[in-house]
Amino acid sequence: MAGGGSDASVSTLSCAQCGKPAHLQCPKCVELKLPREGAAFCTQDCFKASWSSHKSVHLKAKLTTLGAGDTGEQNSTSTNDSWLYCLKKGQARAPKLPHFDWAGTLRPYPISKRRITPAHIEQPDWALDGIPKIEPNSDLQHVVEIKTPEQIERMRETCRIAREVLDAAARVIRPGITTDEIDEVVHEATIAAGGYPSPLNYHFFPKSCCTSVNEVICHGIPDARKLEDGDIVNVDVTVYYKGVHGDLNETFFVGNVDEASRRLVQCTYECLDKAIAIVKPGVRFREIGEVISRHAFMSGFSVVKSYCGHGIGELFHCAPNIPHYARNKAVGVMKPGQTFTIEPMINAGLWRDRMWPDGWTAVTADGKRSAQFEHTLLVTETGVEVLTARLPTSPSVFPWLT
Ligand SMILES: [Zn+2]
Ligand SMILES: [Zn+2]
Repeated sequence: MAGGGSDASVSTLSCAQCGKPAHLQCPKCVELKLPREGAAFCTQDCFKASWSSHKSVHLKAKLTTLGAGDTGEQNSTSTNDSWLYCLKKGQARAPKLPHFDWAGTLRPYPISKRRITPAHIEQPDWALDGIPKIEPNSDLQHVVEIKTPEQIERMRETCRIAREVLDAAARVIRPGITTDEIDEVVHEATIAAGGYPSPLNYHFFPKSCCTSVNEVICHGIPDARKLEDGDIVNVDVTVYYKGVHGDLNETFFVGNVDEASRRLVQCTYECLDKAIAIVKPGVRFREIGEVISRHAFMSGFSVVKSYCGHGIGELFHCAPNIPHYARNKAVGVMKPGQTFTIEPMINAGLWRDRMWPDGWTAVTADGKRSAQFEHTLLVTETGVEVLTARLPTSPSVFPWLT
C-alpha cells in the first residue's frame, strides 16, 4: 500500500512524519475509521518514509477487533483475521494460506513462539507491549542529532556487538537450516553479549531479526522454511545495548547460487560501498541515492523506493531519512557526529514492492530476486567511520573480498 495516499483534505492537521501542514490521509486509516491525528501526511514521500512505523497503527486496530488489543476500541475490518491472529500469538501463520496473488515462488511457513530475554537485559520501551513510545514523538524525527563523544563511544560498542551477532548468523547458513534457527542464533548471541534484539516486538514484529529470502526485499519473518541450495538470504540484525542501537545486514549465498544472483548480490555490496565512500561533512543526504542508483542501473538492476536508510542512536529509527534512489527529496547535509544507516535494496527486475498479508514481508512485485547490505555509519570531521565494519574474525563469505 506504500504510495497509495488519498487526497482527502485534512489541512488543519500536521504531518505525522515531519510536522508540516498535512493534506494527505492514510487510506487504510480512513478505511479503518482511525483518528485523523497521526494519520495525516504532507507528501507521498513523508507517507512512504513513515510507513514502516505507521502501519502498526492498522495492525493494532485489527488486533483490538480480535479482542487482543489493550484499548477496548472497536473497529471493523475486512482483512484476513487468521493471519493476524497467528501473528498475535507469535506462532504458526495460518495452516491454510490466504488467497493472495503471490509474486514469486516463496511462501510463508509457521512462526515459532516469541523468544524470551532474561530479566537482566535492558529492554527498549516496546519490548513488553509492542509499541514504541519515545521514538514516534521525539524531536529527533525532525532534527538530525549530533552525538556527543560519550554517545559515540556507546554506539561503537553496540555496533561491534551487532557485527559479531551477524557474523555468528553467517557461520550457520547452509542448505537445510531454517530461518527460525538463524533467528535463534541471533537471539542467543545478542543476549549472550548483554544486548536486546531490537526488532523483537518492535511494532509487534514477532522475531529477533529479519530474514529475507530470494524475492523478499526486507522485513522477512524467520520461520520454519528450510533454506534451499541456490537461495540467497539477507539477515538484518539490530542490537540494543547501553541505551543505543546498532544496525547492519548482509545477503548470503546458500550453497551453489546461479551467476545472475551472484552478480546481483555483488552489485548491491558495491552500491553500499560506493555510497559510503562519499560520506563526509557537507555532502547532501540526497546524493547517496544518486550514487547507488547510478551503479545499480549500470548493471541493469533497479532500486527499491519504499524503504530507506535512517538515523539511529538512542532511537532505532529517526532523522535523517536516507532514500537510496535517484532524484529523491531528502533534505540536509552531513555533519560530524551524525549517525545513520545506508541500506540499499537492489532488485534484479523492476523496483516495485508488494506486501505479504502478514503486514511485514516486502517482496518484489515481479517475483524476481532482491539483495541488500547495510551499515551503521558515523560522520567524522574528515569522512566516515563504519561502525558495523567487518572484523578480522568475520567469516569470509564473499568471494570478491578474498
Ligand atoms: Zn537493519
Ligand atoms: Zn536499518
